[in-house]
Amino acid sequence: MLIVQKFGGTSVGDLERIQNVANRVSQTLKQGHQVVVVVSAMSGETNKLLSFAEHYTQTPERSEVDMLLSSGERVTAALLSIALNAMGHPAASMSGRRAGIVTDSVHTKARIESIDPQPMRDELAHGKVIVIAGFQGVSDKGQVTTLGRGGSDLSAVAIAGALEADLCEIYTDVDGIYTTDPRIEPKARKMEKISYDEMLELASLGAKVLQNRSVELAKKLNVNLVTRSSFTNAEGTLITKEENIMEQPLVSGIALDKNQARVSLGGVIDRPGIASDIFTRLADNSVNIDMIVQTLGHDGKTNMDFTVPKTELLDAQKIVDQFVAEGEISECSYDENICKVSIVGVGMKSHTGVAAKAFQTMALENINIMMISTSEIKISMIVAEKYAELSVRSLHSAYSLDR
Ligand code: ASP
Ligand code: MG
Repeated sequence: MLIVQKFGGTSVGDLERIQNVANRVSQTLKQGHQVVVVVSAMSGETNKLLSFAEHYTQTPERSEVDMLLSSGERVTAALLSIALNAMGHPAASMSGRRAGIVTDSVHTKARIESIDPQPMRDELAHGKVIVIAGFQGVSDKGQVTTLGRGGSDLSAVAIAGALEADLCEIYTDVDGIYTTDPRIEPKARKMEKISYDEMLELASLGAKVLQNRSVELAKKLNVNLVTRSSFTNAEGTLITKEENIMEQPLVSGIALDKNQARVSLGGVIDRPGIASDIFTRLADNSVNIDMIVQTLGHDGKTNMDFTVPKTELLDAQKIVDQFVAEGEISECSYDENICKVSIVGVGMKSHTGVAAKAFQTMALENINIMMISTSEIKISMIVAEKYAELSVRSLHSAYSLDR
């Protein structure tokens, strides 16, 4: 098999850990696989480099920031390659440029435009392990670019896609994706397999494990992703196409989002275009809207409720005030003490009663549901924040995720 192995900052945090990574790569090679390694900078290194730049100015040129930050990943790549060579495994390190990763010119947040796999294929053909500096590429103007914080996951997925690798393993200090946050429910279990779409909906459970952008890219390029720990030999969680998962559980996991606030608008003038006006102005001011509920209007007025990230509530309030001043909205209220609990599973596409069970579970616990929204594979409920943990635990056991 051709395997891409990506090691994050903590996995390459010091020289001894880089040696551990070399040992792990060596094991994989001895099993007869071809390996392409992608590395992050040693943990803390990117922040340290950034702080160096900020010693001079709060606004360093972005192209210089890229020149600076990209060096962190190169250090790790070169050291790992040296360690592998010293163990008798012919290895070659490559910068993003050498690995053929071409991006746009949006410095510090570049997007990958293309990858020429030939230089990597040539080295592989010579029997070498390739160690690639993650998080970086080269713009069509020939300048070094970086892909945004946490971007080495993206490098790994893109490279796996370009090389049509059989597997892309993302190594961190967490051993996989759990059915819910184990700090809330100690009975949470590690999932063996999960589909791309479920993983995207369960983003909060994977937040510390991998970037959402890389899951989206893996889905697009059809890359089989595995998240696992570099500190244990435990099998990780495979993130793959829905069709590759034979036994679909009804519900795969329960996610919790505490960064939610509710905006309630009353006496909204019920005319064509009002929703467009309100939500366009919110969007123009970079307020992200999640759930929206509009009730049936009467007497020319209607009610609208929606949620925004807590951190964007002040911005939302300012916009709502404008509409109040313009006479389009007569009442507004805000609630920051809420949270969103979501049940995710592809099994709900083909089974009935999943939502009813969620509502029964909340009723049994006497938890009031303020808003509900559903998609093909997700049911989300807004409840008071003080019931966050209780909701998660009750739902987790209601769908037998602890067994
Ligand atoms: N070193 C970069 C960062 O800290 C990229 C990465 O680790 O994925 O954001
Ligand atoms: Mg990372």
